[in-house]
Amino acid sequence: AKRARLDRFISQQCQIPRKQVRLILAKGRVSVDGQLVRDADCQIDQFSHVMLDGQSLRQEEAIYLMLHKPVGVVSATKDSEHKTVLDLLPDYQEKGLHIVGRLDLNTSGLLLLTNDSRWSKRIMSPEHKVAKQYLVSLKAPLTQAYVKAFAEGFYFAYENITTQPAQLEILDAHLARVTLYEGRYHQIKRMFGRFRNQVMALHRLSVGELTLDETLPVGQYRPLTPSEVASIS
Ligand code: URA
Repeated sequence: AKRARLDRFISQQCQIPRKQVRLILAKGRVSVDGQLVRDADCQIDQFSHVMLDGQSLRQEEAIYLMLHKPVGVVSATKDSEHKTVLDLLPDYQEKGLHIVGRLDLNTSGLLLLTNDSRWSKRIMSPEHKVAKQYLVSLKAPLTQAYVKAFAEGFYFAYENITTQPAQLEILDAHLARVTLYEGRYHQIKRMFGRFRNQVMALHRLSVGELTLDETLPVGQYRPLTPSEVASIS
């Protein structure tokens, strides 16, 4: 989150010198998120609700979107070669959105975007172990050995880590549902690579409690509902 001192924020918003802002604060004319604040170095961020004499000062709107990412679109906000996910959001061009957990170019499914970095940090932080579910189509048939190997974890030499226990459910001979609690570079493809099996299609179904809306066509997006936003805590 973009943090700022309260006195500097009021000074910039109202075009009045800091000295004068301190007097205003001392008189108890300012509240932050409903609480009276007299402290000039109180830290606020872009979502703090600051009021002066009962009037709201600028407050940046928090945006949370789910996008049904198509194959062939890059999880980036800028790219010289390919279309980016931001190109699919014409109404959100200059809103400071960032991607919460990238998907590969040839992966489809649930992609979250927000301008609230405190929210996205909670999803991405390893301690929170938010479950991400994927549907995976494989070239070669699956066996029970995969289930065991995914649960035990794989050693990735490049990162020098062992992957967290993951769940693999065999839905049919060439189709699996995989649940990960982390997101390493090309993780699913690399895991199946250990069996010399090739991922033919990869689709993200869910992130935590957030499930891709079945009614959302490929390339379309919608804002999250307040309860969806609150499901990440
Ligand atoms: N694992 C991958 O290999 N690619 C993705 O896009 C997501 C998980």
